[in-house]
Amino acid sequence: MLYNEPSPLEVKILTRRFGLENSQSLDTYLATDGFAGFRKALDMTPDQVIDEVKASNLRGRGGAGFPAGMKWGFVPRDSPKPKYIVVNADEGEPGTCKDRVLMENDPHQLIEGMLIAARAVGAQAGYIYIRGEYRYIIDIMDRAIAEEYERGYLGRNILGSGMDFDVYTHTGAGSYECGEESALLESLEGKRGQPRIRPPFPAVAGAFQCPTVLNNVETFCAVPAIFRDGAAAFADLGPPRNGGTRLFALSGHINKPGVYELPMGFNLLRMIQEVGGGIRGGGKLKAVIPGGSSCPVLRAEECDLSMDFDSVAKAGSMLGSGGVIVMDETTDMVKLAVRIMQFYQHESCGWCVPCREGTLWLEKVLTRVDNGGGRPSDINLIDELARNMLGRTFCPLGDAAAMPTISLVQKFRDEFEERLPKSVPAGDPRLVVVG
Ligand code: SF4
Repeated sequence: MLYNEPSPLEVKILTRRFGLENSQSLDTYLATDGFAGFRKALDMTPDQVIDEVKASNLRGRGGAGFPAGMKWGFVPRDSPKPKYIVVNADEGEPGTCKDRVLMENDPHQLIEGMLIAARAVGAQAGYIYIRGEYRYIIDIMDRAIAEEYERGYLGRNILGSGMDFDVYTHTGAGSYECGEESALLESLEGKRGQPRIRPPFPAVAGAFQCPTVLNNVETFCAVPAIFRDGAAAFADLGPPRNGGTRLFALSGHINKPGVYELPMGFNLLRMIQEVGGGIRGGGKLKAVIPGGSSCPVLRAEECDLSMDFDSVAKAGSMLGSGGVIVMDETTDMVKLAVRIMQFYQHESCGWCVPCREGTLWLEKVLTRVDNGGGRPSDINLIDELARNMLGRTFCPLGDAAAMPTISLVQKFRDEFEERLPKSVPAGDPRLVVVG
């Protein structure tokens, strides 16, 4: 299923089968170089497989951008415990919808990526943890898995190689928190989706306390191309330390929203103008959230930017999950801050105080300002509340709530100030402390 017309500027590596007839079928996959990468990996030693992923400069596409090869290398292969491959298909970050199209259009590519990871670390089973709202995608993945069992690409003695590997889908219940890797593992094990104390990290004690490679859908989907075309070709697609392409989910006030595969380092302004067709109605760009709602906002003048992990971090934001939210000059930044905080307050698992209380109070104070009942001290209070959460919460959700808020107050303070009442008469109910 395609949701938007492709752009001529796209470099189609992971999306190369999108739009083909029966792109979900194993026959189509095999007819278009499917499993060529896995066959090459079978001829390599596990160390060579990991070195190839390292050389490709593939970085995790879930948000943090951690080098995938290095992560795989942390798995203790001499451990007597079973090893697992886990796919994070929770895709809960607002503004992001690229894992959905990858699984919908090319499910076998994901399984091939898992097989190569399994070859690298000696895993014999893998789980695809899919958010509950993607029920129909679980059916697509289950059909693809069944086809591969029938044809000998999964199960015992795969392709006569002696390798065994089983794959299972597992549904989440639609919690944002379960996109955090340790909470995902808890949920996978049938427990409440709350994060674990780390270390140990999943590479050492992941699923069922066994060594586990846990990566995002897009990360695994990039792996077959690395082996099929070579690590150097993949690395050369992007700037140094940022190999390959990225699926950007362009949304907001643009003429052609959609998911586009572009080389890492593609310029953000060009992405908006030439790929996304420019701002709707000929309007003016005001701001962009470059990597999903948890990332600090960029003002229009900051958007002449290379979209790779390092450049976006240098500009004070994050490439995150690739969800590019474009806003025109009509956007109310106070309402945006309220809406973002409503989401994080709702999704906070409530385990640690700074996040549980911080998101609640931020939502209340932001709503008060938005409703015209704010106090002069509220803007500093919002900033202080958010900064007090930063780096002080148990998992990254606290930072995810704090970072966009801090950036919005910092960069659009005038809009928050304009929303404050000019004077509040004594006894006005707005003077009552919120609670
Ligand atoms: Fe839960 Fe929020 Fe604490 Fe994460 S930061 S553990 S979501 S309360």
